[in-house]
Amino acid sequence: MKLFVLRRGRLLKVSFIVVTFILTVAFFLPKPKSQEEQQKEKIVKKYEPKQRPVYKEGITGNFDLPLYNTVPEGPGEGGKPHAAKGEDQNEVASVMMEYGINMVVSDQVALDRSIPDVRHEECRFWHYPEDLPSTSVVIVFHNEGWSTLLRTIHSVLNRSPPQFLKEITLVDDYSNKEHLKGELEDYIRQFKGKVRLLRNKKREGLIRSRTFGAQESKGEVVLFLDAHCEVNTNWLPPLLAPIYMNNTVMTVPVIDGIDKETLEYRPVYRGDTHFRGIFEWGMLYKEIEIPEVEMKERKYFSEPYKSPTHAGGLFAINREYFLKIGAYDPGLLVWGGENFELSFKIWQCGGSIVWVPCSRVGHIYRGFMPYTFGKLGQNRKGPIVTLNYKRVVEVWMDEYKEYFYTRVPMARQYDAGDLSEQIALRKQLQCKDFKWYMKNVAYDVLYKFPLLPKNLHWGEVRSMLTSQCLDPMSSQPPSVVSMSHCHSSRSNKIFRLNEEGQLGVGERCIDGDTHHIKLVFCRLGTVDGPWQYNDNTKMFYHRLHRKCLHLTQERSQLHLQECNQVNNGQKWIFRELKV
Ligand code: UDP
Ligand code: MN
Repeated sequence: MKLFVLRRGRLLKVSFIVVTFILTVAFFLPKPKSQEEQQKEKIVKKYEPKQRPVYKEGITGNFDLPLYNTVPEGPGEGGKPHAAKGEDQNEVASVMMEYGINMVVSDQVALDRSIPDVRHEECRFWHYPEDLPSTSVVIVFHNEGWSTLLRTIHSVLNRSPPQFLKEITLVDDYSNKEHLKGELEDYIRQFKGKVRLLRNKKREGLIRSRTFGAQESKGEVVLFLDAHCEVNTNWLPPLLAPIYMNNTVMTVPVIDGIDKETLEYRPVYRGDTHFRGIFEWGMLYKEIEIPEVEMKERKYFSEPYKSPTHAGGLFAINREYFLKIGAYDPGLLVWGGENFELSFKIWQCGGSIVWVPCSRVGHIYRGFMPYTFGKLGQNRKGPIVTLNYKRVVEVWMDEYKEYFYTRVPMARQYDAGDLSEQIALRKQLQCKDFKWYMKNVAYDVLYKFPLLPKNLHWGEVRSMLTSQCLDPMSSQPPSVVSMSHCHSSRSNKIFRLNEEGQLGVGERCIDGDTHHIKLVFCRLGTVDGPWQYNDNTKMFYHRLHRKCLHLTQERSQLHLQECNQVNNGQKWIFRELKV
C-alpha cells in the first residue's frame, strides 16, 4: 500500500510530466491522412520512376534460385515421359475419355516433381525489383482430375517467391466429381489459408468463373492458370515486372507442352525466334513468328515483346485495371472468344499485351473437351463458340467484321444477344477503332491471312447426278473429299467459293487432280485459287488442270476430268443454309 501513496505535490509533478510526454508523442506521431492526401500519395506513387529489371551478364538474378542441384529420381522427374507400371489398357482408355489426360500416369508422378528449366540462358541473369505487386493466382476448374489440379497448385507454391504470392484462388465451376468436394477442402487446409476455394452455385463456364475469381481475389495482380499446368523456374517475377512498371500491361508466359499421355514436359517452340498470338478471319487463334521490327525494338533476346492476342488460359493483369475495363463480357458463354475480347479491348482502350519469354508455364493440351457445356449450351459446342465470336466481332471489329462473315457465312444468322452494354463500355473507355489496331498492333495478321475477297457462292454443294453433297470427311488434311447426304447440320460441309477462285471449307481449301479431290491447307498469305464456277452450266472448272469437277456414277468417286456439258456428273448446285 505504501508504495502507492504519493504526496499531493509529487502527484501533480508526475501528472505534468506524463501529460507533456503524451502531448509530445502525439505531436510527432503520424497523423491520420485525409482522403485527399491519400489520393495524392497514390498518384505520386504511380508516377514515381520504377526500378526496371536489370540484366547483369554472369550474375545470377535475385530471384533465380536453382530449384534442384540434381534431378531427383522417380517417375516423371525432370519432366521425363512416364509409362505407368502394369497399365491396364481398359482403365487408361476410360480415364482418357473422362479427363482427356492419362490420370493413371499422372497419379504416379510426384505432385512436387522436377521439370527441366527450358528458359533461354539469358533468363538467369535478370534482376527484378524487390517490391513487385502481390498476386492472386486464380485457377478455375470443372471436373478436373485430382493429381493434375494439385500439381498445378504445388508448382505455384514451390516456385513463387512467397512475398509476392498473396493467395491461390480456386474457383470450382460446379464440378460433380467426389474428389473435388470434401477431399479437396481437407487437402488445402495444410496451406493455412494461402489456397482458397470458392464454388459456383451453378455452372457458369470458364469465362464467368474467371471474372468471379478476380472479383473475389485480394492481390494487386490476378494471374490466371488452367487447372492442369506446371509453372517453371522463376516464372513469377518476369510476369509481374512489366505490370509493376505500367499497370495497363497484360503479361503472358510462354506456354510449354505437357504430354497428355506421358506427362513429358517439352517446349512447343525451340530455337532462336519468338512467336506471338494473332487470329485468322474465322477467329481461330494462331501463332506467328514476331516481325523483324518488333525483334529489333528490344536490346536482349529474352525481353518481353508485344503481341496482338493471347491463347486465353494463362496471363497476369492488374486486378483493378481488369475490373475497370469490364473484365470479360458476361454475355460470353462457357469457352471461346474471350481471349480475343480481352485482347482487342486492352489494345484498343489504351493498354497493351506482352509475352514474356523468361516466364515459362507447362500446360497439358487435351485432344478434345472432356466436358459438355451443360445447360449453358445444350451440349452444342459449335454454335456457342461462334456466338461468342459474333459478340466480340460485333463489338470490337467495326467494318472488319465483314471478313468474319465472309469466312463464317452462317454466323450472320446467329443471334449474339444484347450488345448495348458492351458498346457503351467501349464508348465510355474511349477506345480506338479496329483499323487502328490492325495498322499498329496486328499488322502481321495480313501477312498470313490477307483480307478476304467476297464469296460468289456459299453453302452445301449438291451433285445433280446423285443429289448427294460434297463432304470433306475431316477437317484435317490430307483428306479425300467424298459424297454424303445433304441437309447435314455439320458446318464442315459448308463450302465457299470466293471471287478469286478459292474454294474453302472452314479454314481449309479444296484442290484436285485427275485422281482425287482433296482437302488441303490453304496457302498462307494468299486468298486465290484455281476454281471457276459457271452459273449457267453449273460446272466447276479447274484453271490449272483445265478440267472439270467430276463425279463418277458407279463408284461415287470424285476427280477432275475433261469437261463435258452433257454429263450430269459435272453439274453442281450451291445451296445456302438457314439456321
Ligand atoms: N473450365 C471451367 N468451366 C467450364 C469449362 C472449363 O471452369 O465450363 C476450366 C477448366 O477446368 C480449365 C480451364 O477452365 O481449368 C480452361 O479450360 P480447358 O483447359 O478445357 O481449355 P483449353 O485449355 O482446352 O483451351
Ligand atoms: Mn487447358
